[in-house]
Amino acid sequence: MTPDQVLEDALSRIGSDRLRYLCLDHPDPLVREEYGAWVLARDAGQPAPVLMPRPSPATRVATALKAGARWIAGGLKVVPDPVFEARMKLCRGCDHYDAGNDQCGVCTCYLAAKARLPGEECPLGKWRKYAVTKTKCGGCSKGRNRK
Ligand code: SF4
Repeated sequence: MTPDQVLEDALSRIGSDRLRYLCLDHPDPLVREEYGAWVLARDAGQPAPVLMPRPSPATRVATALKAGARWIAGGLKVVPDPVFEARMKLCRGCDHYDAGNDQCGVCTCYLAAKARLPGEECPLGKWRKYAVTKTKCGGCSKGRNRK
């Protein structure tokens, strides 16, 4: 039996037109995949994965444009490699990470780009914005006037 047939069988047992649409006909492949996994888990009596609400395509475009504008306004800086790797490590270990597309399942951003941008942060607070500074040691007032 193919994976599609297994899903068809599970959907037949559940008998929901809405779930059938979300699993088989929704235009977003991430939605189809996520709901398919949810149906299969439920049908097998396993704990079903938590489904996160997804931003609409228009919201995604607006979010990407705002992130680009923030990046330009911030001087086109990127985070240092260790920060990028630390962010990606958190994402790869996250239940919402879509490894096939390197996308966040919550915000749907492409993480190879998002995790490079200092002004971006995880929508669930797993990693935060990063302040990129170019001041040399001694640029702040800490350590001055020590006796
Ligand atoms: S950005 Fe946050 S929610 Fe999205 S995959 Fe990374 S850690 Fe998970």
